[in-house]
Amino acid sequence: MTAGVLLKLRCPCCRGGLELRAFAEDYLKGVDQDQPGTSPVPSGRLRIIREGVLLCNRCRIWYPIASYVPVMLVFQTPFHKTFARTHAQEIARLPNYNIPAGQPKPGEHSVQATFTEQWNTLQNDDLSFSYSREDLENLHRKVLLKWSTAPPPDVRNILNVGVGFGVESEVLHKISGAEIYALDLNFSLLGSGPLFREKPFLHLIVGSLFDPPFAEKSFDLVYSQGVLMHTYDTRQAFNSIARFVRDDGRLFIWIDAIEDIFARRGIRGLLTKALYFSSLVVRPVLSRAPSLLRSVAIWVISLLLHPLMVARELHPGKWSLKNTNHHFRDYFTPRYVHMHTFNEVVEWYETLGFNDLRLHSPLMFRRLFGRSLFGIGILGRRMATEDSVESRSSLQEEAVGVNAH
Ligand SMILES: [Zn+2]
Repeated sequence: MTAGVLLKLRCPCCRGGLELRAFAEDYLKGVDQDQPGTSPVPSGRLRIIREGVLLCNRCRIWYPIASYVPVMLVFQTPFHKTFARTHAQEIARLPNYNIPAGQPKPGEHSVQATFTEQWNTLQNDDLSFSYSREDLENLHRKVLLKWSTAPPPDVRNILNVGVGFGVESEVLHKISGAEIYALDLNFSLLGSGPLFREKPFLHLIVGSLFDPPFAEKSFDLVYSQGVLMHTYDTRQAFNSIARFVRDDGRLFIWIDAIEDIFARRGIRGLLTKALYFSSLVVRPVLSRAPSLLRSVAIWVISLLLHPLMVARELHPGKWSLKNTNHHFRDYFTPRYVHMHTFNEVVEWYETLGFNDLRLHSPLMFRRLFGRSLFGIGILGRRMATEDSVESRSSLQEEAVGVNAH
């Protein structure tokens, strides 16, 4: 992490400021300083922290920084113990500070484990799911955000929630020029740290979307593609990340749609339903199985179905067994894959006062990739009008009532 990120980061427990103790740091020269949105470096050298801790003096907690990536979880994991052993001397000098001792949200340990395995399988591959880097640019710019010519000039920072290995964040920066705060629960980000360290506009952070380490209302755009349905409660996840959108800011989410399972007809429809119902049986078992058993099961499925996968891919020449494995891990190993309808999601936005909603573009997706778009993709903006301020507060009161159940 760059030292400048401290200005933005907060303790995820109390939202207070943090103090940096660096154990090991690098100074980068010749970093591309022309990237829009990048903090200027007066000396021409950029200080980046390789190992260290961030201290909350109010909560008396230390948060690790490892492989350039701050780990801002409110709960303890086996990683914390390893980190404390590796840096035993430095940690001994912080006798009044502790490892975070909060509770994860339901299922978060499992979600963290399966997605870490999933993204460690793929890492920085040429393809992310079916898409090349160029495809991803087109997907995000033309299909999901529909920034046909240029991004809105008031999008200067983005909270990217759920980033896999970090490739999506790179693409978001490329199409917006904005500074990207890339938050993910999975530990594969520690592997991305060294690969992404010379990209000062891209800040990788391990953390939970239920406790993001930032001040509320501090982002121009909060962006989450294919993530929220993998939490214990998609709507709570939505409400949680919406808190970080500034007034007049934007919120984009894409999640799975139930109609994609049941609206398809013919043989494809039957296959879709068969795969869906089989996943309902297989996922609860594999998500709870020991890691080794899970890996063996996914390898067996991958070896059997790899030839079929290659035949239907956009880039068969680049698609390897690793990609098939990643795909089936995504399908069969997450603890949660909730399905929703468009009306439900539109109502979530309306309830939080987002009064300007735009849908993703199935037509552009078909033009680009020659197939049907699935899922629910909505870009919402909260525009401050006198009406909306009044109705927002009453709707938010209602939402709090709903969430309490
Ligand atoms: Zn704190």
